[in-house]
Amino acid sequence: TQSAETLGFQAEVKQLLHLMIHSLYSNKEIFLRELVSNASDACDKLRFEALDKPELLEGGEELAITIDYDKDAHTLTISDNGIGLSREEAVANLGTIARSGTREFFSQLTGDKQKDAQLIGQFGVGFYSSFIVADKVTVISRRAGLPADQGVRWESDGQGEFTIAQADKATRGTDIILHLRADEDELLNGWKLREILRRYSDHISLPVRMYKEEWDSEKSEQVKTAELESVNQASALWTRSKSDITDEQYKEFYKHVSHDFEDPLAWTHNRVEGRSEYTQLLYIPKRAPFDLWDRDAKRGVKLYVRRVFIMDDAEQLLPNYLRFVRGVIDSADLPLNVSREILQESRDVRAIREGSTKRILSLLEELAENRAEDYALFWTGFGQVLKEGTGEDFANQERIAKLLRFASTHSEDATQAVSLTDYVGRMKEGQDKIYYVTADSHAAALASPHLEVFRKKGIEVLLLSDRVDEWMLSYLREFDGKSLVSVAKGGLELDDLADEEEKKRRAEVAEQFKPLVERLQKSLEARVKEVRTSSRLVDSPACIVVGENELSPHLQRMLQAAGQ
Ligand code: ADP
Ligand code: MG
Repeated sequence: TQSAETLGFQAEVKQLLHLMIHSLYSNKEIFLRELVSNASDACDKLRFEALDKPELLEGGEELAITIDYDKDAHTLTISDNGIGLSREEAVANLGTIARSGTREFFSQLTGDKQKDAQLIGQFGVGFYSSFIVADKVTVISRRAGLPADQGVRWESDGQGEFTIAQADKATRGTDIILHLRADEDELLNGWKLREILRRYSDHISLPVRMYKEEWDSEKSEQVKTAELESVNQASALWTRSKSDITDEQYKEFYKHVSHDFEDPLAWTHNRVEGRSEYTQLLYIPKRAPFDLWDRDAKRGVKLYVRRVFIMDDAEQLLPNYLRFVRGVIDSADLPLNVSREILQESRDVRAIREGSTKRILSLLEELAENRAEDYALFWTGFGQVLKEGTGEDFANQERIAKLLRFASTHSEDATQAVSLTDYVGRMKEGQDKIYYVTADSHAAALASPHLEVFRKKGIEVLLLSDRVDEWMLSYLREFDGKSLVSVAKGGLELDDLADEEEKKRRAEVAEQFKPLVERLQKSLEARVKEVRTSSRLVDSPACIVVGENELSPHLQRMLQAAGQ
């Protein structure tokens, strides 16, 4: 239908709008970054769709973003000649949040401004940030390819409803008109707007244009002329040379590609030449997104081919265990019409994936070595994901193993800070294994009776309680030539560490308790394989261990819980 309608926002949008206006007010200028970012995405999408359908470009005018203000009307307008929105797209994209897990995410919000601002940051604020400075927003848009009378007009005061109506629009693309709040007049100023754009949007690869201004001596003020000028560099950031890019520009570009609101933790920018040719600009975020564990969540990096945007979330370009990495890969080899299916098969993609993996591992090694606090932050957010790499990427297993961090009996702290290298450096004379215990929680690991003898002997034990640990250990069998051994497995060879006297005492104990052991063996026959005296306990009278080649109790419970 073409009639005007009033529709309600999805409940989460209402919540987001309310929270955002309050918690992000001190950072309000970011609305412009978000709108320019969307305009740039819309132009990227059009350029991509036009590869197949050149008629979408309707005349072939240069893709660009234009910012203009109207002092008398108190409006600020952000226009693009990108892909535009159909009526259905406007309703779906400007009235709902299309990310799974959104409801759970909102239930975590506390009402504490600072904490919530951070959470919302991870979520990505996007289009709705317009309402930080505007009390009414009008969107007039036309999808490329639709006739001029099939435009759409979307309007809302951000209170819970929006109206949608048919509109005439001569050119394709989108105009976002912000009706500024009464106290936002300082935005109606060419100098101020240019300053914000330079700060936040200089990395945008399309021209961002504004009307040139001149001094009018009669009026004694700057006045706009009819001539447009570009206010940014308008070249794709990753194509510039490193020495020409400031940290601020790297950070703002990250926010654009990742839709994150916080600065990244680290990045790596390289041009690779040789058998396959590509540029990569890859980032590690500071914090895990709320949907890191959601199977359907977006993952991967943006793919460009010779500067033409091809797709978001190209997950084939990185292994799964690096799914937290964001950024851009621009290939010189892939065809422009490359599809996700082709990506799966391509040799060029394999070369890119291998090269990018190495770069990210180097970046992490560098962090671990030189920026311990940042590495700890990385580990908190993404350590569990990185552990998956031990089973997924055998070629790099050793490098990944060095990056792992664990809790251990060395400090008994729940913080995972001990590397396998640290552990090996603290091994006792004669110790040739790395010992660990697995449990459902750190507290349970720490309370394991299996630890008693290790404590007594002063041997460090890794305390593992993450869900992926058992799985990881089934792939990571040794490190630095030393095998990883569960303290819960039978036949613990601690003998090498025992002195002669103790060996003698053990033999005596075994002899002394032989009758008891035989009786226990008999009465427990159907339930255990073997009963024996042990030197591994200090305070507990008995414990159950698992045979050398059997599943650990923790893994058995996990498999049972998974119905296997
Ligand atoms: P995100 O950019 O993370 O997808 P936003 O809230 O910024 O989220 O935007 C929501 C959606 O609205 C976009 O994904 C896009 O589909 C649509 N949209 C926003 N601005 C534009 C625009 N200028 N042109 C076309 N579509 C747009
Ligand atoms: Mg956006």
